[in-house]
Amino acid sequence: MASLFNMDIKTLKGVGEKRAALFHKLGVDTVGALLRLYPRTYEDWSTPVSIGSAPLNEVVVVRGTVLSAPREQRIRKGMTLYKTQVTDGVQDMTLTYFNNPYVQTMLREGETYRFRGKMTGTFTRREMTAPDFAPDEGCAPIVPVYPQTVGLSSRQIGSAVRSAFQLLPELLRDPLPDSMRQSHQLCQLRFALENVHFPGSMELLQIARRRLVFEELLVLQLGLLSIKSRSRVENRLRLERDDSEAFYRLLPFVPTNAQKRAVSEAMADMMGQAPMSRLIQGDVGSGKTAVAAALCYCVIQNGMQAALMAPTEVLARQHERSLSGMLSQAGIQTALLTGSMTAKQKRLVKEGLASGEIQLVIGTHALLTEEVTFQRLGLVVTDEQHRFGVAQRAALAQKGENPHLLVMSATPIPRTLALMIFGDLDISILDELPPGRQKIETFAITSDKRERAFGYVKKHLDRGLQGYMICPLIEEGVSDMASVTEYREMLEQGAFSQYRIGVLHGRMKPREKDAVMAQFSAGELDLLVSTTVVEVGVDVPNAVIILIENAERYGLSQLHQLRGRVGRGTEKSTCILVSDAQNPEALARLRVMCQTSDGFRIADEDLKLRGPGDFFGSRQHGLPQLSIADMAQDVQVLKTAQKEAQRILREDPELEQPEHRGLRGERRQLFEKVGEGAFT
Ligand code: ADP
Ligand code: MG
Repeated sequence: MASLFNMDIKTLKGVGEKRAALFHKLGVDTVGALLRLYPRTYEDWSTPVSIGSAPLNEVVVVRGTVLSAPREQRIRKGMTLYKTQVTDGVQDMTLTYFNNPYVQTMLREGETYRFRGKMTGTFTRREMTAPDFAPDEGCAPIVPVYPQTVGLSSRQIGSAVRSAFQLLPELLRDPLPDSMRQSHQLCQLRFALENVHFPGSMELLQIARRRLVFEELLVLQLGLLSIKSRSRVENRLRLERDDSEAFYRLLPFVPTNAQKRAVSEAMADMMGQAPMSRLIQGDVGSGKTAVAAALCYCVIQNGMQAALMAPTEVLARQHERSLSGMLSQAGIQTALLTGSMTAKQKRLVKEGLASGEIQLVIGTHALLTEEVTFQRLGLVVTDEQHRFGVAQRAALAQKGENPHLLVMSATPIPRTLALMIFGDLDISILDELPPGRQKIETFAITSDKRERAFGYVKKHLDRGLQGYMICPLIEEGVSDMASVTEYREMLEQGAFSQYRIGVLHGRMKPREKDAVMAQFSAGELDLLVSTTVVEVGVDVPNAVIILIENAERYGLSQLHQLRGRVGRGTEKSTCILVSDAQNPEALARLRVMCQTSDGFRIADEDLKLRGPGDFFGSRQHGLPQLSIADMAQDVQVLKTAQKEAQRILREDPELEQPEHRGLRGERRQLFEKVGEGAFT
């Protein structure tokens, strides 16, 4: 039966060479692939409204009997109209088709049809132009709309799918084991396929969809989890003791429950069978650094070294400052290693790492590419690194003796996506902000209110607080230096002549940037004018107000990250978004920002506004393309599927048992397309 699925699409009635070539464009060469070409959306033809009650200028379905066969009306050369009248017994409606002689044979006088189209005309003279129609009797209640290509209509695809069903046996071999289908109340494969293509009702469509989504996500998880378990080797760097309590006493604050939970989850990993591969997800300001520090501390107390990688030098230096402050109290030796240090400085650090004298090193990811050797590297932490792909993580694990790996994600990715993208990592979530944090008051203003906003900023600075200004962007390719410099001049010559202003831009040397950041941290500057270089990670709790010019230019997640530079202490913080944008999408983003400061919600909205395709497209996840599951919608199913995948792999890691063979085949197919040809 599996062979039926593999059958060439040309075996289907009505599919010849030419049409097969068109199907090929849609990625469909076999009957099986055709059956898995799910409709993009559906039209509901199930409940026609009466002609008189249909709202004008909206697409509706009406039922009507043809009063007279369509009349031909030649307007000019190459333009022929076909007009006819239909009635629902109460009111009539005029139908017009252009250059479509077929309607003359297809719409028969006295017969009843359903018509779907935009109702136009007036309330008394109703009209539809070129509506779709189908005989009322036996009319499909829900009509599938397929992804199309030029020369191949949705209808033609639908009829090919119908002929495929005629070939299939009544009972298809189902990749999902019976027991699993029963325990999760999932319908059979054939039923699911039929109802996803030609649903008997919206309810049946949901039942069918749920099963297919489950299957797809299960197969995805079977792939991702197997990749993960392959990279699992013996834990040679096993921690003996959990010293986190001792570390907490070094902190200037009490850790949140979420922080403690994340630390104990990671400790359990490092004390367990396999090296840790864990992702810490937390909204901006949730205190990921302290979690990393706790784990570094424990690793070091267990006689090993730790390395922390940050995406920029500014961040590396910031982390070094705050961590060395905490850890030196416990006699721990920390060092910074970045590209901009002198050769001599670097050499000293490398020596210290090789001898084991330096226990914690903080740097950019040059840290691991430069020939740095460790005496005994136990833990690698990468901060703000969700751009780090599966492959890079695997490469990292190969370094040394498979050090424990902790990834900290700056952007709260919706849980669903995280589960997919980081299927090879375990996840801890910091779902709690430190106490005393207040919602960041966020306003969107137009540029004519800028002066007033400046006044508001000044009020804060006058109280000894600090602020950020994210200056306007100039066209792409032009250095950000120009806009930063210009903006600063504008401020200095105008409203902010009395204040200490620093600037940060991409053209500055890391050392210079760091000097400015250090000044700002120390409170020696009132205002920091910057481009988005302050976007990630920068932590100055006394900075409580941020003004963002051209706010419409940024995506939601980026705005959220920028805003996250404030609201890091107990003082009330403010974010002012300046924008004259008119377009609805930009306005929608600004509105979301004003409404919520919950990073997870924002990430979800972002996903909705931009679509998952965009999300996936913009980064190289190397994940297989999903055909029916929807990240924004199918969270619950994903969770269940992941649990089932874990269970299956525990019982049958190679998917060798007869009831898992179908799943194994599907996994191979799904991952084949991304060149992850590792599955057989
Ligand atoms: P992020 O998760 O964005 O990286 P950070 O680790 O930079 O957040 O922490 C943000 C701020 O909150 C820092 O100033 C940090 O010292 C402070 N902080 C972290 N944890 C706590 C806590 N449990 N109580 C109070 N303040 C905390
Ligand atoms: Mg951080």
